[in-house]
Amino acid sequence: MIITEQKPFEEVVESLQGCKSVFIIGCGSCATAWHTGGETEVKEIAEKLQGVGKTITGWMVVEECCDERKEKRDLRAHAAEVAPADCILVMSCGAGVQTVALLHEDKPVYPGLNALYLARIQRLSKADERCVLCGECILAKTGGICPVATCPKELMNGPCGGYKDGMCEVDPTRECTWISIYKRQEKLGQLDQFAEVKGPKDQTKRHHPRRLDKAAA
Ligand code: SF4
Ligand code: SF4
Repeated sequence: MIITEQKPFEEVVESLQGCKSVFIIGCGSCATAWHTGGETEVKEIAEKLQGVGKTITGWMVVEECCDERKEKRDLRAHAAEVAPADCILVMSCGAGVQTVALLHEDKPVYPGLNALYLARIQRLSKADERCVLCGECILAKTGGICPVATCPKELMNGPCGGYKDGMCEVDPTRECTWISIYKRQEKLGQLDQFAEVKGPKDQTKRHHPRRLDKAAA
C-alpha cells in the first residue's frame, strides 16, 4: 500500500488561495484504506474548506485515482460539478494527483496529501516501508527481506560494523536488517545465500521516469 499523510490544512488553504470554488476527488484505494483520502476524509475537508469561505461544487471518490480509465469514467458522471469549480483538490498520492492534472489542461489541480512510502500494513495504524521500487528485486537472495528499503545504508552485504546487540546503528529501535536476514536464512537452511557476496545493484534500473507498455513489449 502507498502510505500517505494529510497536508496541514493551512498548506491546502494556501494552495487554494486563488480559488473560490473547489471540486474534491478522493481515492478509493490506498488513501481510503489508510484513512487519509477516502469518503470520510473528503467530506471532512469539504466542511473545513466551507468554513474558510470556499464553495464546494461537488466531490467524488474514484475507485483508483491513478487509473486514468476509472478517473475518466467517474469524472463523466460529475462533469456538471467539475465545470464551475476554479480548481480541483485531490486526496491521493502524487500519481493520482497527476492523473487528474493531465486530464484537466485548463484547470489547476492541487494535492491534499503527501505520499510517503510503499509499505506492509500490520494494523490500520501501523505500517512500515518495505519496497522502494528499485526495479531489480533481490528478495530471492535475501530471505524475502529487503535491504534496499529497510537498511538505512542500503547495504547489499551486511551487517555493517555499527550494529549493536542485533540492533541497527542508525535506528536502534529496530533490528538490523542483516541480522533479520541471517536469522531467517538460518531457519530456511539458506546460509549459503547469506554468505554469497552480492554485487552492487544496477542503478540504471532505478532511473526516472520509468515506463512500461506491455502491449509494445
Ligand atoms: S529489492 Fe527492490 S523491488 Fe525488491 S523489495 Fe527491495 S526495493 Fe522492492
Ligand atoms: S546496522 Fe544493519 S540495518 Fe543498520 S545500517 Fe548497518 S547493516 Fe544496515
